[in-house]
Amino acid sequence: MKGRIFSIEEFATFDGPGIRMTVFLKGCPLRCSWCHNPESQQMGVEYARSPNGCLGCGRCLQEAEITADGTKRLTAASVEACPRSLVRRCGEDLEVGELCDRILDNAAILRMNGGGVTFSGGEPLLQSDFLLACLAALQGRIHTAIQTCGYAEGEIFTKALEHCDYMLYDLKLMSPTLHRQFCRADNAKILQNYRTLAASGKPFVTRIPLIPGVTDTVENLSAIAAFVRAQGVSYVELLPYNRMAGSKYAGLLRPFSPGFDEDRPVELHTEIFEKYGIRAKKM
Ligand code: SF4
Ligand code: SF4
Repeated sequence: MKGRIFSIEEFATFDGPGIRMTVFLKGCPLRCSWCHNPESQQMGVEYARSPNGCLGCGRCLQEAEITADGTKRLTAASVEACPRSLVRRCGEDLEVGELCDRILDNAAILRMNGGGVTFSGGEPLLQSDFLLACLAALQGRIHTAIQTCGYAEGEIFTKALEHCDYMLYDLKLMSPTLHRQFCRADNAKILQNYRTLAASGKPFVTRIPLIPGVTDTVENLSAIAAFVRAQGVSYVELLPYNRMAGSKYAGLLRPFSPGFDEDRPVELHTEIFEKYGIRAKKM
């Protein structure tokens, strides 16, 4: 069985306990307007160009295709056409065994540093058969974590939860309306899966991206604090918006229109969490 991966980071320090290998699976059911990995969202293979060292010769664009919706996309021929090798393919298909062998090659050093492997994305639960097969192959051999937005059918989520050692779980917006507006999907499944996670006894961390004027409002953070507290959670991590988030869109020939004021400073509002007896750490 093959899975589609768009990147592998060998020694990550931000994706769970210790030093980790992070495997980024392609495809995501959400479309967060602030997403800083736009190449992660679609399941299909894409091509992206890097601006560093670009001659502006336009050869990659001559090989671009026009899609059914009228947008331009770089192609495999764009990779060949670039004299600076700046166009790369996003999306490689790997067999379960091939990926797990690569992970296990690093197991000793990752274990020595209190780490393991983290499956991230995109949304790793979208390729659930592949993810579950990898987790089964790795169980008991290396510490495994899943970094998820939580948008998955309950049955799939529960299976993945049972087979991993740790979860990093994003909570973004409590209002279903705002969630639909900014993430293009309802949040009911996300909240239900969070309840399942909190009740499971599995170690996990809650992560909240702070998007200026969108997720960092008093109303939203108060609602998140009340919700997680009700599930018995007493620690969350706050991830302030990264102003470089839009930088990859141009490489994919896509516009970046986040729909909020990127220059507005992020509000941490740790006092809201304190009020609920929750320690909120800025990352
Ligand atoms: S990415 Fe490569 S082919 Fe495209 S404009 Fe830059 S140098 Fe030319
Ligand atoms: S859940 Fe993550 S990967 Fe998916 S669109 Fe949102 S920010 Fe991007």
